[in-house]
Amino acid sequence: MTETLMPLPAPLSAMVQTPTSVPPAVLLANHLKALKLPTFVREYEKVAFEAAQDRADYPRYLLRLCELERIDRERRMVERRIRMAKFPHTKSFDTFDFAAQPSLNEALVLELARGEWIEQRRNVIALGPSGTGKTHAALALGLAACQKGQSVAFITAAALVHDLMEARDERRLRMLQKHLASVKLLILDELGYVPFTAVGGELLFEVLSQRYERGSTLITSNLPFDEWTSVFGSERLTGALLDRLTHHVHILEMNGESFRLASSRKRQKDRPENREGSNMQYLETAIGRAKSASATAPRARCCSLPRRSSRSCRSSRMRSCRPGPPTSPSRTR
Ligand code: ADP
Ligand code: MG
Repeated sequence: MTETLMPLPAPLSAMVQTPTSVPPAVLLANHLKALKLPTFVREYEKVAFEAAQDRADYPRYLLRLCELERIDRERRMVERRIRMAKFPHTKSFDTFDFAAQPSLNEALVLELARGEWIEQRRNVIALGPSGTGKTHAALALGLAACQKGQSVAFITAAALVHDLMEARDERRLRMLQKHLASVKLLILDELGYVPFTAVGGELLFEVLSQRYERGSTLITSNLPFDEWTSVFGSERLTGALLDRLTHHVHILEMNGESFRLASSRKRQKDRPENREGSNMQYLETAIGRAKSASATAPRARCCSLPRRSSRSCRSSRMRSCRPGPPTSPSRTR
């Protein structure tokens, strides 16, 4: 029995079967480009030369090219995800000094860097005063997520509220909400420095509740949970938000000293003429005052959150506010 070949679609069959004076290398490059195999185009001659030297057969030659294409494709995809995430800087755990932040649960952070929490649609909330490495850790977790193949969006809370309000005014809110709901990991940095208007708070609440159990959210904040009402302006909204956010959550406590302050103090000390520097003393007093103002702010509001959320808030608050050894990272119901 003779084998019959399926006819090719007309335009392609014409291209393949028509005798042509175009050199095969040019045709091959065209086909490989159409098939989106740029590494094949770039490498096939070099790999053919190497394969000939090694006396590799055709399947081995093709295998080498396929492997190169896949490695390169993965690298391009990671780079694309990093660009799409809009990180303000690239930071990783390679440059993070865990010894400088003893309140942080290093084992938990390294576990989070493996990215399974994103598959499980859990959240992470990093809490602590300014300069303790919250943004650095968030960026490093975001980068690790990009490398593991997850889509990420990084934005400060204030910028996101601004974007949401602008999108609402320009009647493209749905589109932005859809994009924010679709990323696997949304990183919301610096929640707490700027209070929101009532509309701004509601728009942010909507984004976060649309992501509940559908995607992971990482939030960094200088405020303990019981002060989040001062940012959102409404106890009801804050309670409902905390209830959703802390249902499946890992809390990162970063209550140590400001890394910036410690570094500049060290730099000053290294310079003999500055040992008595009054600027450093002023800085330390100012940062110390800001920290103790936050620590002594009233905490009773937490307990007046809606009943369903009071337990989560209480337990989360204890983790975020209470100094001492790290408590269990996950909240369970
Ligand atoms: P936060 O977000 O808590 O205010 P940042 O993450 O912005 O603090 O940290 C301030 C600066 O100090 C950044 O340049 C960051 O890379 C650096 N930094 C903070 N903590 C550490 C750390 N433990 N190891 C290395 N660098 C750190
Ligand atoms: Mg920060």
